[in-house]
Amino acid sequence: MGHLPPDTPRHRPDRAIDPAEALHRLFGYSAFRGQQEDVVSHVIAGGDAVVLMPTGGGKSLCYQLPALCRPGIGIVVSPLIALMRDQVAALRQLGVAAAALNSSLTGPERAKVRADLRAGRLKLLYAAPERLLMPDFLEMLDGAEIALFAIDEAHCVSQWGHDFRPEYLELAQLGARFPGVPRIALTATADPQTRQDIAHRLALDDARLFLSSFDRPNIRYAVLRKEAPLRQLLTFLRAHEGESGIVYCLSRNTVEQTAAALNAHGIKALPYHAKLAPETRAANQDAFLTTEEGLVLVATVAFGMGIDKPDVRFVAHLDLPASLEAFYQETGRAGRDGLPAETLLLYGMQDLVLRRGMIEQSGAPVEIKQLERAKLDALLGVCETVTCRRQAILAHFGETLAQPCGNCDNCLTPAETWDGTIAAQKALSAVWRTRQRFGVGHLTDLLLGVKTEKIERFEHDQLPTFGVGTELDRKGWASVFRQLIVRGALEVDHENYGALCLTPAGEAILRGKESVRLRRETASGSARTLLKKKAERLEVAAADQALFEALRAERARLAKAQNVPAYVIFHDATLAAIAAARPASTAELARIPGIGASKIERYGAAILGIIAG
Ligand code: ADP
Ligand code: ZN
Repeated sequence: MGHLPPDTPRHRPDRAIDPAEALHRLFGYSAFRGQQEDVVSHVIAGGDAVVLMPTGGGKSLCYQLPALCRPGIGIVVSPLIALMRDQVAALRQLGVAAAALNSSLTGPERAKVRADLRAGRLKLLYAAPERLLMPDFLEMLDGAEIALFAIDEAHCVSQWGHDFRPEYLELAQLGARFPGVPRIALTATADPQTRQDIAHRLALDDARLFLSSFDRPNIRYAVLRKEAPLRQLLTFLRAHEGESGIVYCLSRNTVEQTAAALNAHGIKALPYHAKLAPETRAANQDAFLTTEEGLVLVATVAFGMGIDKPDVRFVAHLDLPASLEAFYQETGRAGRDGLPAETLLLYGMQDLVLRRGMIEQSGAPVEIKQLERAKLDALLGVCETVTCRRQAILAHFGETLAQPCGNCDNCLTPAETWDGTIAAQKALSAVWRTRQRFGVGHLTDLLLGVKTEKIERFEHDQLPTFGVGTELDRKGWASVFRQLIVRGALEVDHENYGALCLTPAGEAILRGKESVRLRRETASGSARTLLKKKAERLEVAAADQALFEALRAERARLAKAQNVPAYVIFHDATLAAIAAARPASTAELARIPGIGASKIERYGAAILGIIAG
C-alpha cells in the first residue's frame, strides 16, 4: 500500500473544491447525513472539532471531505493497520491519492510514501500514532502544507476506555507544533467519562463538540435466558444463513469449542482470540473481513476495534459483556451499512456472578471498581427490563427516546411480569435462615426440599423454609435469585464462594414493606419463535434476484483481482439498487446512491454489460 497505483488521478490543490459537489461527484452520495455538513464546513473554515457519532454514522467523511477541500495533505491518525488498509483502499477506489504509513511497510515502500508526501502528491495520509510522532516524520511535516489532523478512534486516549493507547496522549502536542492546522477527533464511544477525557487529553478543550444521537435504529436487540447456548445459537444462526456475523464468547475455550461445533453443524465458522498464532489470527480476520462472504467469526473481545466491515448482519453474545458500554460497542459492529441487523445476548445467573466476581477480584483501585460495578449494573438493568430495551440503553447514555422502539424483543413480544413478592420472601428467608453463608444451588435445594448430603450436614432440613418452594422449579428459582441480585435485594459475597447476603432493600422485601414484580422468563418455545423472527432483510425483489447475484459475482471477481475487500468496490445496498433500477446508461447509473465518477469510470461498462445481459 506504500505506492500509488499508476492510474490514481493526481489531486490539483490549486482548485477550490466545493464540499457538496465533492460529496456527489466523488462519493456518489446525494446528501450529507446528520451533522456531517456542519462538521465539514466548520473544519474547512479551520475550526477544531470533537465528533461523537455512533458506528456507521459516517465519521470518515467528516475529515475526508475537509482534507480534499482544503489545500495541503490531511493526516489521519489511526490505531490499526487493518483499518488504515481498508480506508486507503476505499479512497483509491474513489480516485483519491491516499496512502498509509505503518509498520507493515517495507523500507522502499516507506521511502515512496515519504517521497510522495514531500512532492505534494498525496491528499490523505493515514499513520499510526507512533510513526507520526517520530521526530524525523514531524520534521518532514514541518515542511509540508497540512490540511488537517484527524484523530480517529479518539477514545484510545482515555484510560477509562477499553482501548487505551499511551501513544495517543502524545498527540496533544500537535496543536502547539502546527498552529493554525485544524484538528478533528472522532469516536463512537458513548461512555461519558471517556468523552470528557478526549477533549481534555488531546488539548481540544476549545474545540466545537458535535454530538449525534447514539441510536442505531437498524439494530435489533434481544436478550434471552441462557439455557442451552449452542442450541439457542444454532436457532439464531439458521435465520442468518449466508450472512456474515460475529459470535462473542468470554474465554478462548468457548471460542474454540463453539467454532468447532458450528462447523460440525455445517455453519462456516472461524475462531479468533489473542492466543492464536499471529498468522492464523490474521488469516481468520482477513477471511472474515475480505475474502469470504457469509462467514461466522467466533471471537473474544480481542476482535473488534476498527472493524470497518459494513455488512456484518448479526452479533451474538454467548456470555455477558463487562458493561453496557462494551455491549453497545460490540453489538454496534453490526449493520454499519444502515441495513437491518440483529443481535442476541444470552444471559444467566452464572454470568452475573462471574462478572461481579471479576470486578471484585480485579485488584483495581476502589474508584475504578465502583465505576465498573455501575457499568455492569447498567447492562444488567437492560437485561432485566420488561420495557423497551433501546429506551433503557439510550437512557444510560443520556438520551431520551420518546416512544418504545418497536425493534427489540420486548417491543416485539411484550414480556410478562408476575407478582413475585411471596417467592422473593421465601428466597430471602432461605438466605436469612442459613445465616447468609450459601449460594444459589444450596438455597434452591433448601426451597425445593431436596435432602442432599450438604442439607443434612447443616441440618437445614430442620428449617421452616425447607421444602416451601415447590411451586417453582430450579430454573424458576434461579430466575428469582438473579432478579433479586440485579435489583439489589441480595449481594454476592465473592470472598465467600458466592454466598448470598441480604441488603437493606432485601430486608424491606422480607418484612413485607415492599412488593416485587418479576419478569416471567420466556418459555423456550416462544424464545425459539423470537429467534426465528427475522428482521427485514435487504429488499431484493424475486425478479431482481438473478441480476443481484450476477452483480455480486462480478464484484467478487473485481475485488479479488485488486486484492481489496468486496465492499470497498460496492456495498450490497448499491448492488440491490442497481438490480432494481436496471440503469441503461452511464447517466442513469450515476443516479444510484454510492456511485461516484471514479466508480463509473472503473466499473460502469462492466455493470451496464451485465444488466444488458
Ligand atoms: P463510521 O466511521 O462513523 O462508523 P463510516 O464513515 O464508515 O462510519 O460510514 C458508514 C457508512 O455510511 C459507510 O458505508 C459510508 O459509505 C456511508 N455514508 C457515510 N456518509 C454518507 C452519506 N452522506 N450518504 C450516504 N452514505 C454515507
Ligand atoms: Zn424496543
